[in-house]
Amino acid sequence: MFDNSRWARMSATRSIMIGDIRVSYVPDGLVQMHPRWLGGAAAQDFAAGTDCLDGEGYLAGSVGGLLVENGDRRMLIDAGFGGNRVPAHLMPDGLGQIEGGRLVEGLRELGVAPGGIEVVAFTHLHDDHIGWAVRGPADREVFAGAQFFAGEAEWRWWSGAVDPRRAQVLGRRMNPAADGREVFPGVTAWSTPGHTPGHTSYVVESGGQRLIAFGDVLHSPIQFADPRWGSANDFDRTQAVASRQAVIAELSDEKVTGFGGHFADVVFGSLPDNTGTRLRWQPVDATD
Ligand SMILES: [Zn+2]
Repeated sequence: MFDNSRWARMSATRSIMIGDIRVSYVPDGLVQMHPRWLGGAAAQDFAAGTDCLDGEGYLAGSVGGLLVENGDRRMLIDAGFGGNRVPAHLMPDGLGQIEGGRLVEGLRELGVAPGGIEVVAFTHLHDDHIGWAVRGPADREVFAGAQFFAGEAEWRWWSGAVDPRRAQVLGRRMNPAADGREVFPGVTAWSTPGHTPGHTSYVVESGGQRLIAFGDVLHSPIQFADPRWGSANDFDRTQAVASRQAVIAELSDEKVTGFGGHFADVVFGSLPDNTGTRLRWQPVDATD
């Protein structure tokens, strides 16, 4: 049975199989997002009519990374927020507090040594996606054995920004995740710009099944009600809407599972033809 409270809380560690590839969401922490941050009054009204709000009126955004295991080889899509906490009063309007810190411990609980991860592929380079990759001095980096991937436009944009730490730490091992490039066996980059200039989704494919890790193309399942509901910090709103529509079109294929890293405790799901229900996202429970 599906538990309704999962729509309004941080994710647990959850695993599903895509063909022969095992994908596991490893939570790092939580970010609170007010529905007005996504789409103004309309989104607020919609969210209030669902079970998606926490006790303070925020959507519960999980923060974390997606572990992809193909045989004995491992990669990670996004790297959480790191061991940090920023209180609500220091966050941009529309966001509550953000907190991370559990990802590495979560990997170890799954029997995964972070140093043995071969690839860390970033959907984009916001702080809540690169956290553990930029922590620690160079000789004690968490993902010491990994090559990094990000969209080329993403890397170019951040390299031009005044953020030497991000550029220094990531740059030594950064590779371009060009559209269609296989970044790891069974995992292909898909350019989905808009939220940031080089935002990239990743498609995991095995045994005729597909999973789309769509990053911050969508922050909450309430956005399936209206793809125009973007996030307040979308870099290019028109592009962001187009990318959202493209992802939604892909998810209409019943063989495709979606992965939304900020989707409360309903990170894996699909979009079956269930028009008439308020929330179109259908969570996919763990099958392990
Ligand atoms: Zn994010």
